[in-house]
Amino acid sequence: MERYVNYINGEWVPSESGEFAKNTNPVNGEVLGEVTVSTAEDVDRAVQAAKEAQKKWALVPAPERADVLYEVAYLLKERKEHLAQILTKEMGKVIAEARGEVQEAIDMAFYMAGEGRRLFGETVPSELRDKFAMSVRVPVGIAGLITPWNFPIAIASWKSLPALVAGNAVVWKPASETPFLAAEFVKIYEEAGLPKGLVNLVFGSGSVVGNAIVEHPEIDLVSFTGSNEVGAKINGRAGELLKRTSLEMGGKNAVTVLEDADLDLAADGIVWSAFGTSGQRCTACSRVIVQESVKEALEQKVLEKMKGLKLGDGLDESVDVGPVINRSALEKIHEYVKIGKEEGAKLLAGGEIVTENGLDKGNFYQPTLFTDVKSDMRIGQEEIFGPVVSFIPVKDLDKAIEVNNSVKYGLSSSIFTADVNKVFRAMRDFDTGIVYVNAGTTGAEIHLPFGGTKGTGNGHRDSGVASLDVFTEWRSVYVDY
Ligand code: NAP
Repeated sequence: MERYVNYINGEWVPSESGEFAKNTNPVNGEVLGEVTVSTAEDVDRAVQAAKEAQKKWALVPAPERADVLYEVAYLLKERKEHLAQILTKEMGKVIAEARGEVQEAIDMAFYMAGEGRRLFGETVPSELRDKFAMSVRVPVGIAGLITPWNFPIAIASWKSLPALVAGNAVVWKPASETPFLAAEFVKIYEEAGLPKGLVNLVFGSGSVVGNAIVEHPEIDLVSFTGSNEVGAKINGRAGELLKRTSLEMGGKNAVTVLEDADLDLAADGIVWSAFGTSGQRCTACSRVIVQESVKEALEQKVLEKMKGLKLGDGLDESVDVGPVINRSALEKIHEYVKIGKEEGAKLLAGGEIVTENGLDKGNFYQPTLFTDVKSDMRIGQEEIFGPVVSFIPVKDLDKAIEVNNSVKYGLSSSIFTADVNKVFRAMRDFDTGIVYVNAGTTGAEIHLPFGGTKGTGNGHRDSGVASLDVFTEWRSVYVDY
C-alpha cells in the first residue's frame, strides 16, 4: 500500500496531524493507499515557502522559466502510460480516456512552455510628444489551486503551468478522491528541476485545507474547478476578502439534433458525450434536444449503440464505461432517476445500480436514457453528473435554442445539422462558452479558452492563452524622455 504525504518547500513531509485517510478503487472498493490529512498550519507552511520562492522566480526571465516547463512536458510524455494507469485505478475512467487526459497535460505543458516566449504586452502610440507608452504582464504572486477529481491531471495542468510560466508560486489542494496522481504530477515538477517552494501540494479536505487556502491573507488568487455549491461559497468569501478568483463550475450540456442531420453521426456523438467517463465530465451531454420528426429514429440509433456498451474495470481495454467515483455519487444519480420517473419522463433504458457480472462491489450505474422530458423538469435543468441522458423533443431550431439556453449553466452545447445557416445561428445564439458543430459536447483542446457563461463560471477561462489573464496582472508604464 502506498503512503502519500505533502510536498512543501521541496520536501515530502506528513502533516503534524498524524492522521492518514484511505483511498479506494471505485471498481471494487480495494484500498489503494493512504494520504496525510493536513491542517490550516500546513497551508501556512506552504504559503511561507511559496512567498520566498516566488520573489526569486519572478526575476527569472520568462523564457528561462519556460525551459522547466519543457522538461515537465518531456517527463509527462515519458510517463504517459504510468500516469494513465494510476488515473484509471484511482477514479475509474477507462484507460483510453485516461491516456487522452494525460495527453492534454502534455499538450498544455508544451503550449505553456511556448508562452514563455510570448508573454506579450502592448506598445501604443502616446498622446504626448517624447513619451513612450506600454503595458507588461506581471505575476499575481501566490496562486491557490483547488481542483476536482474528474480530470485530476488535465485540470491541474491547466492551472499550474500558466501560473508558473507567468512567474507565480502555487499552493495546490487536489480533490480528496484523487491524491495519488497529484503526487505523481508533483514528482515530475521536482524531477524537472523546478526550484523548491514554487509548487506546494497540501492534501486534505475541502472544508479544512480548501477553506484555509481561501482564507489565507497571503494567497493572492484562488483558481477553483468544481461544483457550483462550493464555487459560490468560495466566491462569497473571496469577495469579502477582495481576493481574485477564477471559477470553473458545473454544466447541463445539450446536443441539438435537427431533422436534416446525419443521425448516425449524431448518435455516435451523443453516446460518447453522455456515457464517456460515466457521464462525469463537466461537458457531458445530459440533454438531447431533438426535432420531433426524427426523435424516434434517433432514439432507436442511440439505444442500439447503448446495447453495445461494456461496463467494467477501465484497465480492461475492451471496457467502454467504468464506475462512478463513489457510493454517494451512485446514490445521487439513482435519486435523479427516481425523480425523472416521478416527473413523468419515459425511461427507455437503464435506470438501475448494476449488481450483476461481478460489478456489485464497485460503483456502477447502468447507462440510462429518458425520453419525452420537458425542459422545466428537474432532470432537464439540474446537473446529474452520471450516465443519464434526457431526450427533449422540440418543433424547430428557435425552440431548440430557447431550451438549450433555459438552464442556469452555460458550459458546452452542440448542433447536428447539414444547413450552414443553422450552424451560424447556433454559433451566435447558444449561450455557452463552447459550441460544437456536428460533434458531441466533449473533447475540448488546450489551445482555446475553456469555461462557460452564466452559472458555470465567473468570466475567467482555463486553458488557451486566456488562462494567462488569470495568473497575471497588467501593468501600464509611461516613459517620458
Ligand atoms: P467539489 O465537490 O466542488 O470539489 C472540488 C474541489 O473543491 C475539491 O478539491 C474539494 O475538496 C474542494 N472543496 C470542497 N469543499 C470546499 C470548501 N468548502 N472550500 C474550499 N474547497 C472545497 O466538486 P467535485 O465533485 O470534485 O467535481 C465535480 C464538479 O466539478 C461538477 O459540478 C463538474 O461539472 C465540475 N467541473 C467543472 C469543470 C469546468 O471546467 N467547468 C471541469 C471539471 C469539473 P474535497 O475533494 O476534499 O472535497
